[in-house]
Amino acid sequence: MAKKYDVIVVGAGIAGLYAAASLPEKMKVLVLCKDIPWECNTFYAQGGMATALNEADVPVHIEDTMAAGAYHNDAEAVRILSETSLKTTAELVEAGMPFDRDERGNLLYTKEAAHSVARILHAGGDATGRYMHYFMMVQNRHQLQRNTLVYDLLIEEGRCYGVKATVNYEPTTLYADNVVIASGGVGSLYAFNTNSRTVSADIHGICVEKGIALADMEFMQFHPTVYVETPFARKLLLTEALRGEGAHVIGEKGNRFLFDYDPRGELASRDIVARGIFDYKRKTGEKVYLDFSMFDEAWFHERFPNITRTFAALGYRFPQDRIPISPAFHYANGGIACDVNGVIPGIEGLYVIGEAARTGVHGANRLASNSLLEGVVFAKRAAEHLKGKAISRTKTPLFEKDYGNILHKENDKRYKHTLRKIMWEDAGIIRTEAGLHKAKNLIYDMKNKEIGRLLQLRLNTAAAIVEAALARKESLGSHYIEA
Ligand SMILES: Cc1cc2nc3c(=O)[nH]c(=O)nc-3n(C[C@H](O)[C@H](O)[C@H](O)COP(=O)(O)OP(=O)(O)OC[C@H]3O[C@@H](n4cnc5c(N)ncnc54)[C@H](O)[C@@H]3O)c2cc1C
Repeated sequence: MAKKYDVIVVGAGIAGLYAAASLPEKMKVLVLCKDIPWECNTFYAQGGMATALNEADVPVHIEDTMAAGAYHNDAEAVRILSETSLKTTAELVEAGMPFDRDERGNLLYTKEAAHSVARILHAGGDATGRYMHYFMMVQNRHQLQRNTLVYDLLIEEGRCYGVKATVNYEPTTLYADNVVIASGGVGSLYAFNTNSRTVSADIHGICVEKGIALADMEFMQFHPTVYVETPFARKLLLTEALRGEGAHVIGEKGNRFLFDYDPRGELASRDIVARGIFDYKRKTGEKVYLDFSMFDEAWFHERFPNITRTFAALGYRFPQDRIPISPAFHYANGGIACDVNGVIPGIEGLYVIGEAARTGVHGANRLASNSLLEGVVFAKRAAEHLKGKAISRTKTPLFEKDYGNILHKENDKRYKHTLRKIMWEDAGIIRTEAGLHKAKNLIYDMKNKEIGRLLQLRLNTAAAIVEAALARKESLGSHYIEA
């Protein structure tokens, strides 16, 4: 007999865990995640969580968010994000979230690219995501099932009835009155990315298959400062806060070339910085570095303990050593289309929150540190909406079709690498129409091969990105297309 829940939350990052924390204990809630719970993007977030500082800062935060998003944002969603941040941040602090404070106990705020003021809260110095994830894990009172991979949504006649997933490698059907998608972004589609290996766009791919709209998929954000000289798919990010605090991006001769691209230099929005670095490398063939030599050693180690430790293991000593950097895929601004309560239009009982969602807050480009904030603000709204609505009980249909035994096929690994290369080269930082057509053809070629379910889902999402990029003829925000 298949299990039945009130709510299944797919994903145990900040959005999934905060949604679960916002649902009462009396509800039967199951939180699922693919791997171990901390293998998610939330865990790797470094810089911090943006918040409006006070009522007076709300319009300024809104304007910064809209400007970064090239005014492609949904104004209502941005207003909600910023206004609600005051309450949500206060609730997190009240509940004991250990954001960093000064010696007198005042919260410390830092500034990141394209923010007008210092309004980013951080924790553990540069380990904000890890601290927030731990905090949310401790707060969660609901069942959390790890090692569970969702490979299908049970949808019939405009209603979602649950999911199919491998639970500890066993194909299993799990029914629920509501399913909340909190499965994160699309990082694993790109050869160079900063994302957790669990973030691979499978649920986006299921949505494509079911005719559920994805939106703004052309707007993929690339982080400008990533150490890519490691053998793993997930590359090591050097937080924006480093540049916020004054680190320089330099060419081989120590020249701060970013001022040739934007008068704000290192503090221009991240798409401009990423393109500047990409273009400079391409034009000069030089390596580009992040330089910390202006920082006091003790201050640097205390402010950036995580980076200091991680790179010490690779032989770097900060602040004296400069570090070679490249841009890499970082964040999906677009995602599964929903309203400001996370409701997916046209499908009863199906919500989406966090990076998986396209609420419209980020527009064409996310303002730094707005995504942890989006995670909490919109998770709570979805939970409130879900609690407030009447459940229409219908007889659960039988979902016989099952892909559980064909998740992987023999040549998937090879095709997966080809896909990642294509996405990086042709649907990456600088796109051309010819490159996008080439990518589209290769993706559709692979879709017709003997491939497993999970690769098929990734290809669905990749195709959605490429098609959205082809449809937008002009550059906007993080979508940059060369004539
Ligand atoms: C290196 C790095 C640094 C960052 N720094 C910052 C920062 O300083 N500030 C900021 O605001 N944002 C930052 N971000 C972005 C931010 O961390 C993410 O956008 C945010 O944490 C996403 O949270 P989420 O809950 O939506 O998804 P995630 O935290 O990515 O969680 C996704 C969850 O979904 C699960 N999942 C996925 N697919 C399936 C499936 N098929 N079946 C079952 N489970 C599934 C995963 O196992 C995981 O539990 C950073 C991101 C990275 C990668």
